[in-house]
This record gives sequence, C-alpha cells and structure tokens, in this order.
Amino acid sequence: MPFTLANVRGRACLVSEDGYYDLERISNGSLTPDPMTAVSRHEELGSIVLSGKPDGPIDHAVLGPPLPRPRQVFAIGFNYGSHSTETGFDNPEQPLVFPKWVSCIAGPSGDIVVHSPEIDFEGELVVAIGTSCKGVPAGHALEHVAGFMVGQDFSDRVTQFAAKPAQFGLGKSYPGFGPIGPVLVSIDSFEDPNDLVLTTEVNGVTRQNARTSAMLYSVGQLIEYLSAILPLYPGDLIFTGTPEGVCFPNGPYLQPGDVVTTTIEGIGTLTNRCIEPID
Ligand code: ZN
Repeated sequence: MPFTLANVRGRACLVSEDGYYDLERISNGSLTPDPMTAVSRHEELGSIVLSGKPDGPIDHAVLGPPLPRPRQVFAIGFNYGSHSTETGFDNPEQPLVFPKWVSCIAGPSGDIVVHSPEIDFEGELVVAIGTSCKGVPAGHALEHVAGFMVGQDFSDRVTQFAAKPAQFGLGKSYPGFGPIGPVLVSIDSFEDPNDLVLTTEVNGVTRQNARTSAMLYSVGQLIEYLSAILPLYPGDLIFTGTPEGVCFPNGPYLQPGDVVTTTIEGIGTLTNRCIEPID
C-alpha cells in the first residue's frame, strides 16, 4: 500500500492530502517517532489509516531529511550518457560508486555554503533501501526498496579534482551537500518507478531536464551490483547519478544568493539557497 513519509521536527510522520500525521500517535504507539525505525518497518506504513485531524499542514511544516541517519550512502558517477558526454568522460563499463559521507545529509531546504569558486549542483533520484539484502538479482531488487526521494549531490569540484585520480567522495561530502526529501514516497506509489521526470532549476532557469529511464544502470541493476559486494541495510541511500546540465567543466559555478530547486515528478521539490561562508 502506498505511503508518504516525512520528518517533521525530527519525528516520523505520514502524509496525506489533508496534512501530516505523527506516526507514533496515528499508530497508537505501535511505531516509534524515529524515522530510521519507521523505514525499517515500511511494509506496515501503507496499512495505517490516516483519519481524524492531522497534526498540521505539510506545506508549512519544518521538514528534516526523511532519513537522517543512514548507515551507508552510496552515489553513482556518470550514470547518464548525456552527463558523461558533457564532462568529457567515457561511460563507465560498470557502475562507478563512491560514498557521500553521512554527515553531509541535510533536509530539503538546507542552505549551501559557497566556500569555493567551483560549487556545482547535481540533481538526482535517491533510493531508500527498506529491507536488508545481500546478493539480490536486479529483477527482485525493487522488493527491497522502501521508496524514493529527491536529492542533490552538491559538489566542490576543487576538492574533487585536487587529487589524481579524482576523489569524488570528499568533494561531495561537505556539511549540507546531501539534501534529501522533501518526503519519502513509497515505491508502490509510482506507475513506472523507472521513468520519472527530473528537473533542476537555478534562479528559476531550467538547467537539467531528464527522465530517470535514461540511466545507464537502472535502480535494480545498481542494487544488484552493490548487494553482490556488501549488505544493504534499511535506510541506506543510493544517489543514482545526475543527467546533463551541471556547471562542470565550463562554469559558471554557483554563487551566494543563487537558489537551486530540484524536482522529481510524484515526489516533490528541494529548495536550496547558496550562502556566503560564515566566519
Ligand atoms: Zn552525483
């Protein structure tokens, strides 16, 4: 059964058209308010009846990252041929995987500190694992997915390319560089979870506009690849790669005052403002 999970002031909430419902309250205490526990019991969330008065309207809620403490955060490089082409790289012959360290995870409206002259955006579909798995074939992979979120893989290209070969993980793990949300939408909510429109705008100008069906490695193939090597745990995240339209390599890069909005159909929009470093 479809569900939408949000983090409102640190508490797991289910969302309907009427507003958000505190998970502990609406489940009569059978589920805790911890979002990480909620995702591990995602198969129960869709059957909870959202009736009565909601705790508030979702449009005005203070939202945190739907999954604030994943054990593992994977990101995929060059998973759209259009992005490989624009950056002058070959398409990878197997998934190119790097970590986004967990401390970069932020809510859907977090600010981005422009601490370097080459801060870039990468709009991405983010997969949330729902059940532990190891050695899953692609054809069964979506059974282990709780749902999808919108994500931004903000990147400092100076740090990324300071070492040779490039060190992707560090340049993409500054605090706040992994905003996710605005909500987690369950996998069974999508008519075709492998074909969603993804757009990124900067100051209202469209910079990325692609369909997730253009991924070189599908969500199922990525889970097969990763889970052949290591176990995946409930709440783990996979940033699935970005399509063409980023600033690298020619710029101009993000500046303080820029506003980056990232939208995926059926999920929602992240809004991230670029700000000056605070001394
Ligand atoms: Zn990326």
